Amino acid sequence: MSSSPIWHPFTQHGLGDPIPEVVRAEGAALITAEGRRVIDAISSWWVTTHGHAHPRIAAAIAEQAARLDQIIFAGWTHEPAETVATGLRAIMPAELTRVFFSDSGSTSVEVALKMALGYWLHRGEARHRILVLEHGYHGDTIGAMSVGARGAFNRAYEPLLFDVETIPFPGDGCEQATLDALERACSAGAAAFIAEPLILGAGGMLTYSPRTLREMHAICARHGVLFIADEVMTGWGRTGTLLACDQAEIAPDILCLSKGLTGGAIPLAVTMAREPIFAAHYAEDRARMFFHSSSYTANPIACAAAAANLAIWREEPVSDRIADLSRRQGAALASLSDHPRASNLRHLGTIAALDIGAAEGYLSDLAPRLLRFFREQDVLLRPLGNTVYVMPPYCIGNDDLARIYRIIGRALDEV
Ligand code: PLP
Repeated sequence: MSSSPIWHPFTQHGLGDPIPEVVRAEGAALITAEGRRVIDAISSWWVTTHGHAHPRIAAAIAEQAARLDQIIFAGWTHEPAETVATGLRAIMPAELTRVFFSDSGSTSVEVALKMALGYWLHRGEARHRILVLEHGYHGDTIGAMSVGARGAFNRAYEPLLFDVETIPFPGDGCEQATLDALERACSAGAAAFIAEPLILGAGGMLTYSPRTLREMHAICARHGVLFIADEVMTGWGRTGTLLACDQAEIAPDILCLSKGLTGGAIPLAVTMAREPIFAAHYAEDRARMFFHSSSYTANPIACAAAAANLAIWREEPVSDRIADLSRRQGAALASLSDHPRASNLRHLGTIAALDIGAAEGYLSDLAPRLLRFFREQDVLLRPLGNTVYVMPPYCIGNDDLARIYRIIGRALDEV
């Protein structure tokens, strides 16, 4: 084991694997302390949309840090937060009139759940059951874990997690079973249904159709069950459109965004809500306000990065880059389709995934062996069980993308 005192997340220190030190990053490249150039094939845990160290985001952070670094956000405001909120209102579904800031994808989900429960309490209806989609992942805090899939990675915390009702995943040919289960659960009364739209990330890059998403949303609307779209991974163009919900032409009641909100440079999240959810929390009665904050809510430096991200979306051809990367990802993935060990090839926007060999659990030893192989080949890829996925920054060049798929091809042969 290394002599560093650092306890890393989702890392089995007992395996004794080296932990490379990164000293610099630019575009889709990471430079290690040893001077190696590593291709970031997963956008550093799905956050880096425009590429590392985008000059406009870096400049916005530096400028803001020198002007106003931090200010309490309970009852105070600042220009970067106002710019971000107004900018989001302009490009997100018009029904989502309110923007609540937090710091990570997990907290944006906690906030969404608390908003939903608050809404029903203040309306005088006793609804607190949360419906969730099978194989979902929404983060690692207690509430976010409660609404996510249960497994080896949260077994120790099971006694802390609250009960939810799980709706089966709409796999190929099972869409109707999903819709029927959701209809039954909604008619029995529920506060909210939370789902990752179109693709479940950490659950294994599992896709389902816009039509199913649209029908799930319609069922919730019919029963007055709040539809929470967790677009923490899918937001900011990952699935080919700004939001995955756009492909189903739906507006959720509550929307969670993080990761690409700052272009992936610095932590920030928002939970956007429809006006009635906001309005239910406000009256003369002080006991009704929304009881949630953290010390750094809407940190000005993070908001300046998010404002720069919004400006990049407005002023640079981001959609063209996404369309181009989506096309290149599809073609590159197809090059592996004949390999006898590759199965279940799937591609949605800028995300491509395949399974290697037979299904293995999240904690099988295939994933660490693959991880080691990819690291030795200077490619940052982090398989989920036997699923290998590629989700690079939108600026990745043809040579780097080709190299990623060459290395995956070699892993199919050798690992
Ligand atoms: N929701 C989804 C869909 C995610 O993919 C993630 C993280 O991968 C989260 C929530 C949690 O976000 P964070 O890791 O920023 O807390």
